[in-house]
Amino acid sequence: MKILIVGSGGREHALGWKLKQSPLVSELVSAPGNPGLAELGRCVPISVTDSGELATLAMREQVDLVVIGPESAAAEGLADRLAQVGVACFGPTQAAAELESSKAFMKDFCKRHGVPTAEYKVFDDAIHAKAYLGDREPPYVIKADGLAAGKGVILAETRREADAAIDEILFLRKFGAAGQRIVIEDFLPGEEASFFALCDGESAIALTAAQDHKRAYDGDKGPNTGGMGAYSPAPVFTDLARDQTMEQIILPTLRGMKAEGRPFTGVLFAGLMISADGPKLIEFNVRFGDPECQTLMRRLKSDLASVLMAAARGELASLPELEWSDDPAVTVVYAAQGYPDEPLTGSVIRGLAEAARIEGVEIFHAGTRRDEDGLLRAAGGRVLNITATAPNLADAVARAYASIQLIDWPGGFCRRDIAWRALD
Ligand code: AMP
Repeated sequence: MKILIVGSGGREHALGWKLKQSPLVSELVSAPGNPGLAELGRCVPISVTDSGELATLAMREQVDLVVIGPESAAAEGLADRLAQVGVACFGPTQAAAELESSKAFMKDFCKRHGVPTAEYKVFDDAIHAKAYLGDREPPYVIKADGLAAGKGVILAETRREADAAIDEILFLRKFGAAGQRIVIEDFLPGEEASFFALCDGESAIALTAAQDHKRAYDGDKGPNTGGMGAYSPAPVFTDLARDQTMEQIILPTLRGMKAEGRPFTGVLFAGLMISADGPKLIEFNVRFGDPECQTLMRRLKSDLASVLMAAARGELASLPELEWSDDPAVTVVYAAQGYPDEPLTGSVIRGLAEAARIEGVEIFHAGTRRDEDGLLRAAGGRVLNITATAPNLADAVARAYASIQLIDWPGGFCRRDIAWRALD
């Protein structure tokens, strides 16, 4: 198989790393890729949102399968384009991607199909939105409807903060067009977990769960980020929670999407609050989480290429059960100083080869670039993902930090407490 991976983050490098191990894969191409993916195959500089060019590339290269990494590519309709030209695709159509690209759609959908999630209301005007707050209890959860790179959610402790958030989104357009509408929902208490299931439009199979760290600094302090680290498995996510999530959330969603003429293919990522009376859905994402994906790829023993192809072809039901390593995996995100607000790019990174030699460690690239003179430099906010596995989580964490110790990058920082909740 020749496979085209769309994306340029640590998630896509981890998918490529795993795909490359498959005896079924003859060649990998990435668009636009990154220096890590460039070690696995050719990278073609096409933006993830340029569906037309990507479909042309897939045809010209005669790839057997396209794997969509980021939600933006799915939301732009890449899968629809590929279907038109007859190329198999792992990833949802534009209509199916609305589960992530519109929170209002997702919440209304959950209500129609009885999927457990927080009570909510959708608004496009500030006056009614503020009036609604009068009936609710703090903390208030206010969300921009559209895609806002994980930043479109505001948790407000007071009415004053909540009113300000409504004005910022609806009037000041803090999140641009993503904030034409807002969702206000009740706060769900509990511990969060990320659960992933593979879908082929008709059937779904459970992958596994992970937990991530959204805040920038130790102790879960500081601004929200795309994710500063993750680990899998998630101790809070028991077998019972998995069964409940499949029965109450994933399968009704799959059936509902099919019934509404938007069959879902790809990975359905349920952001969950594990509460006393079972898992509740916080959000759907229509792709692997980044950095959760990196930990999943380190634990998956089954052949990824055949699994993704089976999902793309609607053949998941006939797939043998997936095998996972019992060894936990952890990812520590090494970010550029200043991330998430204003990451300083351009600084030189040295020592990766030595750092990757620590037992159990794999280093995935995210926001890096290679200079004309071969130097590796920071080119984004989240720059490297140091992943490690070991027979227990404490050792995996120790290995990841031992590896980071060997990386010579004064321009970077990372959290020092990844997986603390599971280690406590
Ligand atoms: P989202 O982008 O919808 O996943 O929201 C981002 C983060 O905000 C989540 O990971 C939660 O930590 C928090 N959050 C969102 N909605 C709720 C809610 N209804 N109750 C509690 N926390 C929430």
